Amino acid sequence: MIPVNEPLLAGNELAYINDCVNTAWISSAGKYVDRFESEWAAYCNRKFGVSVTNGTAALELAISVLRLPAGSEVILPSFTIVSCIEAVLRNGLTPVLVDCDPKTFCMDANHVVARISENTSAIMPVHIYGHPANMERILKIAKMHNVKIIEDAAEAHGAECAIDGKWQKCGSFGDVSTFSFYANKNITCGEGGMVLTDDNELADRLRARRNLCFGKQERFFHEDRGWNFRMTNMQAAIGCAQLERIDDILRRKLEIANRYHDGLKDLSIMTPYVESWATTSVWMYAVVFDESISYDAVECAQKLMKRGVQTRPFFRGMHEQAVYQQLGLFVDEVYPVTEHISRRGLYLPSGQALTNDQIDEVISAIKNTLGT
Ligand SMILES: *Cc1c(COP(=O)(O)O)cnc(C)c1O
Repeated sequence: MIPVNEPLLAGNELAYINDCVNTAWISSAGKYVDRFESEWAAYCNRKFGVSVTNGTAALELAISVLRLPAGSEVILPSFTIVSCIEAVLRNGLTPVLVDCDPKTFCMDANHVVARISENTSAIMPVHIYGHPANMERILKIAKMHNVKIIEDAAEAHGAECAIDGKWQKCGSFGDVSTFSFYANKNITCGEGGMVLTDDNELADRLRARRNLCFGKQERFFHEDRGWNFRMTNMQAAIGCAQLERIDDILRRKLEIANRYHDGLKDLSIMTPYVESWATTSVWMYAVVFDESISYDAVECAQKLMKRGVQTRPFFRGMHEQAVYQQLGLFVDEVYPVTEHISRRGLYLPSGQALTNDQIDEVISAIKNTLGT
């Protein structure tokens, strides 16, 4: 079977893990944590990086330090991972959804404008499958309405977006910006996450809150409420080794995308689109099957699995989740683009360990499945 995503640990990962074990620096104290934070922040052109246990924790922590008014509204895409909504709700804020752009699958900036109100305190753009959200417009909207940006860059390591003609890395746009380093992300620690910011005070608050807000004078007299979201030295060691190879990783990801594109371009399938103002990290090679095909994404995934190809259907919209409906959220809300792509979309095997022969096998399996 060709797996949908397999990490590739082809550099100094083992050497650095050995170093952690040999020196017994296996907790969150240790040199790799500091190194990974400063190197990742520098790569994204940010002043501060605060590492955490995973990307979901990064979002929850990032929102908490902004001190947004209780119950105020955060505008976010319906087409995203559940982590985004959870982070909003767990901070006592109100999620307000918008539909996504039919070409990039990222939040539609026009819909953001339509849903901004005096209750809005923040906008949360998410760079879906590695394609940047329209940050030029979203930053302007945020500035005009004086609201914060929580940027979820968990899928967009190394992707860039042009702002007034100047290329900038994803992860550089938010008051707080978050990453995940889960095993299937372009840079992985196995599990891991980070919050980036340029604000010294926010960075201090992030560091305190990920570490239970221990007292500075008296350790066990806590200054505020927090979490234990600390990343271990071993996670960071893998991250450091991964980061040494980031240029190769991004280059290979683009090769994978181009090979798929050439093989699939004449079929009844929408292949990933890249805006002129964007570069993609190709986190996942995501395709949408035309309505002319008689079965949906789940059935298509089953057919491909029979041919030895593992794929994954797209996110299901947040407005269609029963758990939130039961809370009285998003009742009767309809987001047609999200609903369309969540039923017709699949992402194909996209991991760095994928060989060209495997890509060609996936292309053949799709052609055979479609009967072309
Ligand atoms: C992966 C992901 C997360 C969550 O990261 P974890 O490390 O799995 O908790 C958050 N947001 C987006 C957009 C993601 O793709």
